[in-house]
Amino acid sequence: MANIWFFCIPAHGHTNPTVAVVRALTRRGHRVRYYSFEEFREKLEDAGAEFVPCEAYLPPAPADLDKKAGKDFAALIEMVADTAIGMQERIEQDVGAGWPDCIVSDSVCLWGKLFAQRYGVPFVCSTTTFAFNQYSARRMKQGLGEMARMVLGMGRINAKLGQLRANGFPVKDLISLIQNDNETDTIVYTSRQFQPMAETFSQRYAFVGPSLDEGECEAEPTDKERPLVYVSLGTVLNRQTGFYRECIRALGGRELDVVLSVGRETDPAALGAIPENVTVQPYVDQLAVLRRADVFLTHCGMNSVSESLWYGVPMVLFPQHSEEEAVAGRVEELGAGLRLKNTRAATIRAAVDEVLHGEGYRESAAAIRESLRTAG
Ligand code: UDP
Repeated sequence: MANIWFFCIPAHGHTNPTVAVVRALTRRGHRVRYYSFEEFREKLEDAGAEFVPCEAYLPPAPADLDKKAGKDFAALIEMVADTAIGMQERIEQDVGAGWPDCIVSDSVCLWGKLFAQRYGVPFVCSTTTFAFNQYSARRMKQGLGEMARMVLGMGRINAKLGQLRANGFPVKDLISLIQNDNETDTIVYTSRQFQPMAETFSQRYAFVGPSLDEGECEAEPTDKERPLVYVSLGTVLNRQTGFYRECIRALGGRELDVVLSVGRETDPAALGAIPENVTVQPYVDQLAVLRRADVFLTHCGMNSVSESLWYGVPMVLFPQHSEEEAVAGRVEELGAGLRLKNTRAATIRAAVDEVLHGEGYRESAAAIRESLRTAG
């Protein structure tokens, strides 16, 4: 029996794929401790993990998080360092009480990696986006604005790296902190076929396909009379009332069923009258909806796209930042989706119709589906 510690950031997209992994490990008799956040306590405990809440160690989120997310790189490094330093006393105690055999940490949750390095514990990287190296990075097409912000932030970053070293974390430089090299055992929740430039990653990368809790994903679709269009912008940058209103204008009153997952912070009353064929929810069982869906209008979060492809559902692509751009680009390149050119109702309607009735989208999605289901 091994003693395995997981670390993750407070994000559904990064936590969800690890749940089935935790369940598989605990079923085999391993002991899993998961350093996470209250929002995820229930599902992690249900998967058999011992849950450690980490809210107290996380610095307060900036008020303009929506604008900054994915953009202010220096702020991200500062947050990582502050969290690691905030947690060190707790981890020191836990290490004293029982040494972990292995630390599994999300690729963005760098404090997990910092603790693995500090205590010399074997480290496994859990990657819920595309695997990332110098070759695939070129495809992420970092915007000029993002580059400028990173360069301007180098002073802040170096100050934080110094603070980490002063606190006993052996950090060489920024690259070694953020880079995941070919020597690191890495789990990636997609297939080699869907991963861009897969040939540049070593055999230590396990491309395992989407990690979905069994049972939920295997049931047969129920009968339905008309096509189902599912719309979601994920769980983070989803406060976009104007966009949802356009979707309702585009798709309301037509021979379709529409499910709109608008996020817990969108006020449904702000969306106006809801036509009979449209259902608005703060959060849905996305796997259950996708199992029946014909088109998914998505923000192109890696999990949403993987889940859509798992069921062979073609997509209308509406990425919100550079990581999602890369995912959208890959879906487009493989022919399983169409990019939304703008958010006007007429454009949304035309894009949904094209993916529903156009040539090849469903077939391309089905081909990727096969690669994901046989990934292992
Ligand atoms: N999700 C869900 N119901 C919803 C919206 C999202 O279950 O109504 C889940 C979805 O299945 C996926 C995750 O939340 O596993 C979203 O992750 P993704 O990487 O797509 O986007 P993010 O939310 O991180 O931007």
